[in-house]
Amino acid sequence: MHLQLQSCPARLSDDSATLCQLQVTPPLPYCAHHYREYCTLQEKARAAGREGDTVKELVNRRAADGLDTYTTLREIETAKEVAELYRGALDRQLEVGNELRVRFVCANATEAQDELEARRDGATELIRKLADRERVLGMEEKARSAAIELRSILSVPHKPFSCEQSAIVSASPERQCPTIKLTSERCTLMASAGQRLCMMHAVTHASISVIVRAMWKTMEVSRTDVARIGNGQDSVDNAKTVKGYICKVNDVVEELQRHQKTYSCRGEPTAPAIHDALVGDLRKRMVAAMLVLGELKGSQEYHLALRQGHVEVWASENLASVIKEGSAGLCAVFGGPVTIGAFVGGAALWARHAAGKNKSV
Ligand SMILES: [Zn+2]
Ligand SMILES: [Zn+2]
Ligand SMILES: [Zn+2]
Repeated sequence: MHLQLQSCPARLSDDSATLCQLQVTPPLPYCAHHYREYCTLQEKARAAGREGDTVKELVNRRAADGLDTYTTLREIETAKEVAELYRGALDRQLEVGNELRVRFVCANATEAQDELEARRDGATELIRKLADRERVLGMEEKARSAAIELRSILSVPHKPFSCEQSAIVSASPERQCPTIKLTSERCTLMASAGQRLCMMHAVTHASISVIVRAMWKTMEVSRTDVARIGNGQDSVDNAKTVKGYICKVNDVVEELQRHQKTYSCRGEPTAPAIHDALVGDLRKRMVAAMLVLGELKGSQEYHLALRQGHVEVWASENLASVIKEGSAGLCAVFGGPVTIGAFVGGAALWARHAAGKNKSV
């Protein structure tokens, strides 16, 4: 019986071929130092394996479900975290396995390596897909909150309408009244001293404002009705309310523009900015109301536009048809084009028209 001397076969490092060569004490395969290191690595590999196993089922099940089942950012973030945990565990297992294979020449580590690599590649691919889905959902959520933000304008009362453009600031001697009469001709009367309009049109200008204010009030009542409608409350009545509001706002916009044109109110230095701000605000509200309508009807086209952040384009494109539908009867609060034409002609004309209308009713 003779004692066989055996040297430790462990490599000193990954990238060196130098072996330890210290004497080993059988049955241990390595020297005491390297045996301890070997055991530590084995334990590390097992720990990483256990960690991977706890999330493996979860990751596989969710991957099999398909990523479209995730509808919130929170869900997708959680799924991504779990998949990253899984990949991290596989990474550690691979790393340790590699060290065992290279430095400690373990055959069983080599076998497991290929399978682990395949699983890690799968996890990496899943994480990439989850990140894509996360980005899409993030954009959708941003677009949705922008739409909600836009809709919130409907909870704010309309800015009051005012047109103080009958008096004149500049001290020019005498001017012709700029009013365009019903006959499409310009008024031939001269404006009174310190006035922009002739006496008659100074009166009709003020009266028209009364009419616009009345339209404004109806519109405001309608706005509060629309503001009360919540998401997902689909009903024919709600859709009617929203459409009615849109038409009322549109009527006011048209009336404002007609007013500006008739009395050249935009000609004064401060007027254009004020008028444009008013009209701009009203247009924004029409778009916001279209979003409420889109939510109510829930069409595929609307939701696609919402997801892609094109909801304002969708609203603008569909606004015309709502207004057209409305002018065919839904929002004939002020009797349609004939009555509105009468507004332009002056309060007296309007009163006569209204009286005639009442008689015929
Ligand atoms: Zn050694
Ligand atoms: Zn005016
Ligand atoms: Zn005039």
